[in-house]
Amino acid sequence: MQKQQLLYKGKAKSVFETDDSDLLILQFRDDTSAFNGERIEQLARKGEVNNRFNAFVMQKLSEAGIETHFEQQLSDDEVLVKRLDMIPVECVVRNFAAGSLVRRLGLEEGQALNPPTYELFYKDDALGDPMINESLSVSLGWATEAQLSAMKDLTYRVNDVLQALFDKGDLMLVDFKLEFGVFHDRIVLGDEFSPDGCRIWDKNTKKKLDKDRFRQSLGDVIEGYEEVAKRIGVPLS
Ligand code: ADP
Ligand code: UDP
Repeated sequence: MQKQQLLYKGKAKSVFETDDSDLLILQFRDDTSAFNGERIEQLARKGEVNNRFNAFVMQKLSEAGIETHFEQQLSDDEVLVKRLDMIPVECVVRNFAAGSLVRRLGLEEGQALNPPTYELFYKDDALGDPMINESLSVSLGWATEAQLSAMKDLTYRVNDVLQALFDKGDLMLVDFKLEFGVFHDRIVLGDEFSPDGCRIWDKNTKKKLDKDRFRQSLGDVIEGYEEVAKRIGVPLS
């Protein structure tokens, strides 16, 4: 597999073409951003930790019958993936209230959400990723009803698989964000699953072990990610 030119440099990953038009290489960088790119810092080991974390989780999801873009981990910080036509909609499931939901409705952080809620956001940094709904996504041509329905179903299935996985490590999966794309007419899970895009708390102490450590300047950000990785069995180098 030949790595070719840089296609896109995102806030946390760089996307490269390959000599196969159906495959891309994602490179996980140490860049860490918050507040839609307003604050950016380099955190040593983050690229490698997230690459290994993501590879482990994507393989667990595949084993559970969820189709993902993951093909193969190529190096410490690179992964080979299927090239998807990305849908600019972020799918969020919340098991407990946190983040923007707490700000929007004045809820208490940690309040259980029963059943878990499902929200959509338009992926647009300039607009601050505004909340949207399925109707708007269809009207604006971002996805069809059938695609949105598949995305919702898959996001809840991911929640079931990952809640069980984190629970075994005495961890709470508070919320998470997924991105999907289209590959030969099928809806496939893309992007990444890592502590950058979810909230994970220790079940007993409620200690935050995810990107909120960075957003809230709590320190030991990557140490938190590594703690989660260790507890769920991600092989770190
Ligand atoms: P951002 O674009 O939010 O700054 P990243 O730094 O993570 O995010 O950049 C990775 C980019 O690659 C994102 O725009 C994401 O939607 C896109 N992407 C992720 N997986 C795939 C894939 N399999 N095929 C095509 N694009 C992808
Ligand atoms: N999230 C993300 N990327 C985004 C927005 C949110 O990965 O651009 C994740 C975030 O880490 C959290 C979940 O989606 O796990 C819900 O985020 P929320 O709406 O609470 O927004 P936040 O307060 O994190 O900006």
